[in-house]
Amino acid sequence: MEIKAKVHFLGASGTVTGSKFLVSTPELNILIDCGLFQGIKSLRELNWKDFPFDPSKIDLVLLTHGHLDHTGYLPRIVKQGYSNPIIGTPPTLGIAAVILKDSAKIQEEDAEKANKEQFSKHQPALPLYTTKDAEKAIDLFQSIELNEWDQVSENVKYRFKTNGHILGSSFIEVDVFKKRFVFSGDIGRKKDILLQAPNKPQRADYLFLESTYGDRLHPVDDSNEVLTKTIQDTINKKGNLIIPSFAVERLQGIMYRLYLLRKNNKIPEIPMYIDSPMGNEVLGQFEIFSHWHKVNPEEFREMLSYFNIITSYSDTWKTMDENRSKVIIAGSGMVTGGRVLTYLRYLIDKPETTVLLVGYQAEGTRGRQLENGASEIKIFGKYYRVKASILKIESLSAHADQQELLDWMSELKSIPKEVFLIHGEPTALNSLRVKIKDKYKCDIIIPALDDIISIGL
Ligand SMILES: [Zn+2]
Repeated sequence: MEIKAKVHFLGASGTVTGSKFLVSTPELNILIDCGLFQGIKSLRELNWKDFPFDPSKIDLVLLTHGHLDHTGYLPRIVKQGYSNPIIGTPPTLGIAAVILKDSAKIQEEDAEKANKEQFSKHQPALPLYTTKDAEKAIDLFQSIELNEWDQVSENVKYRFKTNGHILGSSFIEVDVFKKRFVFSGDIGRKKDILLQAPNKPQRADYLFLESTYGDRLHPVDDSNEVLTKTIQDTINKKGNLIIPSFAVERLQGIMYRLYLLRKNNKIPEIPMYIDSPMGNEVLGQFEIFSHWHKVNPEEFREMLSYFNIITSYSDTWKTMDENRSKVIIAGSGMVTGGRVLTYLRYLIDKPETTVLLVGYQAEGTRGRQLENGASEIKIFGKYYRVKASILKIESLSAHADQQELLDWMSELKSIPKEVFLIHGEPTALNSLRVKIKDKYKCDIIIPALDDIISIGL
């Protein structure tokens, strides 16, 4: 009888968020990533559906990295009966713990707000999960050594190799009855200021490849030039520079760039503030896992000494009242929440203010409105005129572009039997499909959400 494995595409299929891939083998059921759907309402509502497979029958969860769209559903499957190990590299688990606790807090606050203002059609509104649920998931975390095979049953083993996307991020190879399944995770850049270049797979019978920027080439990194000029302009205008930033990786990367610019006298002396509770926690992870990135501990400590790190909200107000030019890096990256809102309420209507966007701004976010030149933005129910200069650095991305994705496949010794393109919007998926087809002439599948594909072993 032919032995078969099945792959159930439970997320990041035809879209970028909610990464979850269930591999059912005759011996074990393994879930690769367990992410939350994010973005528009119809996607977010998927997080409320019951998991279509009995979570108590899953033997292992393997995490490619700590981002919410790869880990944020963990408390839900634990609540629905999953009780086996959740495996990742030590920094992945460290970052996932920070992110899950933050996510639970947001869920709880949103439910509380909905109940207070009674705008939810559900009475009472419940959080998707609570801090307690997140802690139960974190209790199942078990770290794994890089590059070492873990034989989990007679015919199933897996190993992790770094892929340069964020601290600890990896691609995962799973050997099932001698066939190799490779899950790329989110692949990073060839040249990153903080991380080593991604490792590349040597063999893949079935490749599950992310396609976020499958239709794009990133511009050359001009971040140092933009930062230098913007800071000089800020000083000349006697204004403030506000940089909304993602807490994981982007904040640390911007800090490191600013530190190097200042240290090498490329920018004048100017007070620099970090105001992001989650960013601070991730800085802590960078400090703990110092050999997982390129900045040595001494340089890292020196970098921290160049910044004023704000911890309490009362210091946010003190910082705002300081009457001198400064640089403030604050969350969140798309201006959807966080401390950056407090600064913008008081500074967005001043022409001497500059807001520098340093990452992708999704549709429907305040960041996107600013990027599109909105003349006013709404914060906490009130409208504010936008008189600040709005700038953007386009070149920073934690995701490989089309060329880098193809390059990541370049060391494969033989052509994969099938390539599954995941984690992309339709245009990106199609564009990458054509490129890979041209080069490898192999079978390429773009699975839809909830597809189940059977693979003969
Ligand atoms: Zn990611």
